[in-house]
Amino acid sequence: MNQQTFLKKILELQPKADAPLIQEAYDFALAAHAGQKRKSGEDYINHPIQTALTLAQIKLDSKTIAAGLLHDVVDDTTLTNEEIKNKFGNEIAQLVEGVTKLGKIKYRGLERQVENLRRMFLAMAEDIRVVLIKLADRLHNMQTLGALPTKKQKRIALETLEIYAPLAYRLGLGELKGQLEDLAFPYIFPQEYEWLTKLVKDHYREREKYLEKIKPILEKELIRENIRPLEINSRAKHYYSLFKKLQRYDMDLNKIYDLVACRIIVPDLEKAYATLGVIHQCWKPLPGRIKDYIALPKPNGYRSIHTTVFCKDGKITEFQIRTPEIHEQTEYGIVAHWFYAEQKNRPIAKDALNRQINSVTKELEWVKQLREWQKEIHVSPDEFLESLKIDFFKDRIFVFTPKGDVIDLPEGATPVDFAYHIHTDIGNQCAGATADGKMIALDEELKNGQVVEIIAKKQKGPNRKWLEFVKTNFARNRIKGWFREKSD
Ligand code: MN
Repeated sequence: MNQQTFLKKILELQPKADAPLIQEAYDFALAAHAGQKRKSGEDYINHPIQTALTLAQIKLDSKTIAAGLLHDVVDDTTLTNEEIKNKFGNEIAQLVEGVTKLGKIKYRGLERQVENLRRMFLAMAEDIRVVLIKLADRLHNMQTLGALPTKKQKRIALETLEIYAPLAYRLGLGELKGQLEDLAFPYIFPQEYEWLTKLVKDHYREREKYLEKIKPILEKELIRENIRPLEINSRAKHYYSLFKKLQRYDMDLNKIYDLVACRIIVPDLEKAYATLGVIHQCWKPLPGRIKDYIALPKPNGYRSIHTTVFCKDGKITEFQIRTPEIHEQTEYGIVAHWFYAEQKNRPIAKDALNRQINSVTKELEWVKQLREWQKEIHVSPDEFLESLKIDFFKDRIFVFTPKGDVIDLPEGATPVDFAYHIHTDIGNQCAGATADGKMIALDEELKNGQVVEIIAKKQKGPNRKWLEFVKTNFARNRIKGWFREKSD
């Protein structure tokens, strides 16, 4: 792609981008990689170009796009970071340096993988844009993975599935996460991939046709209630996420209701809830399938209203309702924060902005917590990895303190986990608990939305039996720590 075409594409994605800066970075990268080829045989420059385009697509700022163009310059050519600093300034040089450092670590067994994760998170805490460049870089590497030897393909695909896709999810980049997983899927589970794609091909087509029929019916009903939808379209589930869901539903495709969902975008929140009402007036909802992720967002910031109904001809169908702001945030996740900051003259609701900033801060708190916890010396690399999987990448629940603070815990967490999450002393003194005002056992699983109160007794210590049911490693380590100190 020549400079002119590239710049045109960037400006289409971001009309306000700093064109002279990006142009300069393009020329610099082109000269630095001159004559180099990728394993696929194409000119090397195509790789940084694609990386930069992905960054522009997820609405990152011009400096990050420039750093995306330069991300392999220090690694693969004779140029140094000093030269980048002289030409492009400190900020861009630091981004490139961060990416170069992350690139030095290769996945070699468990211990190296843990080291890799650690560095990722540390980089993230310093400047999250470094991780975003790495994700865009990985996306293009996955798209061209076919050119590499089989053994390498497997390693890179596995790393993508275990590290990069969960990171993208955590950052609220749902679409990118789906793409990374679908690209890795055929390399890790080739037979399952073939089986699944064959199986759903006809289903996808059939469901899309069906939703085309639903669309005008719904539109008519909405307009009757004075709701003008900005968009109604269908969204097919990503293959890998479907595969994982099938594993939980006896591999039975008939039990999956959101294979193709109908997405409706309406002007504001009031209309979003009104739309839910209209859908339920037309079609009977399935009990327990109404999910208000707007009132109670997912831990990664995902917001939307979902409902599943017995639709026309009794077909079970999922609807997803959003406003334009919410839709952008679910597409761009954490990045929406910079996007809105850069476009200050764009009018947006103040509380929407506050919510975005809150969700960014929440992420940073999460990273801070992780950093603190890494410092604890008695955590071995295996334990660290295991904890990451259990504590951070699994489904989360939200419960509330009596004061209304939201506490984010892994699914299956108990009152003891909750107590240690509040404070180590509260954990150690935990004598009983109530959920929504009723007494519950200390080993009972907490449920989403409960208000939990801990009954604490001073001078009381933890019980060794707690180790059998606590879910978070944080609580486990605190309990063990208490007994260790006592035996000293
Ligand atoms: Mn690269």
